[in-house]
This record gives sequence, structure tokens and C-alpha cells, in this order.
Amino acid sequence: MIQFCPDCGAQVTQRVPDGDNRERAVCDACDTIHYVNPKNVVGCLLEWQGKILLCKRSIEPRRGYWTLPAGFMENGESTLEGAAREAREEANAVAESLKLFGVYNLPRISQVYIMFFGRLKDGKASAGEESLEVALFNQDEIPWDELAFPVVVESLRRYYEQREQRTKQVYLAMAR
Ligand SMILES: [Zn+2]
Repeated sequence: MIQFCPDCGAQVTQRVPDGDNRERAVCDACDTIHYVNPKNVVGCLLEWQGKILLCKRSIEPRRGYWTLPAGFMENGESTLEGAAREAREEANAVAESLKLFGVYNLPRISQVYIMFFGRLKDGKASAGEESLEVALFNQDEIPWDELAFPVVVESLRRYYEQREQRTKQVYLAMAR
């Protein structure tokens, strides 16, 4: 929750503006309403010869746990471009043929993950700045107890389920 106006520095008040139905940070000094909306996180499952690329996090939260390449969208990029960028930054990986894989809602912390699926070009990856190491995992090697976030578990679970059933369907899920 913001306390001071990012535009003029005056203290804001939390109240329902005219014509609105929920509390916002309102700056009466410069007459601005500061809306705070959910953040988008973009990421990808990259496959190479039936294996999936995971990154061991070198940063908090969940340092030392395995994750899919993912991170907050940057201004000026598309969801797909963001997912490819995260693969590059976290795993020095080139993502090919990315397609929408799933949308994972986290209403409690106001985040939405938009996950893609694609091929890992040439099977090549190495640890980027936010990773301690990266590796390709077969299904029976996935470190289920050391996965960083529920969205990683959900995405991998859906991936193997669809692979077994030979189906492809974009998933929509929500953190409980
Ligand atoms: Zn202001």
C-alpha cells in the first residue's frame, strides 16, 4: 500500500473515489488516484528430448529450490517475449516455438503467471545470474520435494498428464 504520492510526494489517503467501489490511494494535493493492480509473471517449460529444463534459484525467495524460468514482465514486451527473455536470463537458453501453456492465478498476492511451452534450442543451457545451476530432467528425476513454487508443481503435473493422455489444452488454475 503506498503512503506517499509517487508524483508529488504528498501523503495519500485511502478512500473510495467518486464513482468507484473500492479504496484507492488518493492524492488530494495533485488530484491523482494511484491504482494498484495485479502483476504478471511470465515463464516457460522448455523441453529437449523429453526432458524439462529447471533452474536452481540463487536468490530469495526459495533460494536453492528448483523452478521453471519465470519472472515479472517488463514494460514494453509481450508475454511471449518476456517468457523467452526469462529463459535467456536465468538459463542462457533459447526458447523455440513457444505456445501458451497455462494461466495460474494467485489472487492472495495479486499475481498472475502466464506460462508457455516450447523447445529448448539445441538442448543448451547454463546458469544465469539468478541460478545456481540448471539441468534437464526426465519425468522420474523431477525433484518434486524441492520445487520452488506451487505454479511449478502445477505446470509440471499438467505437462506430464497431457503427455500421457496425448492431449494439449491450455490450463487455467488458481492457488488455493
Ligand atoms: Zn500527488
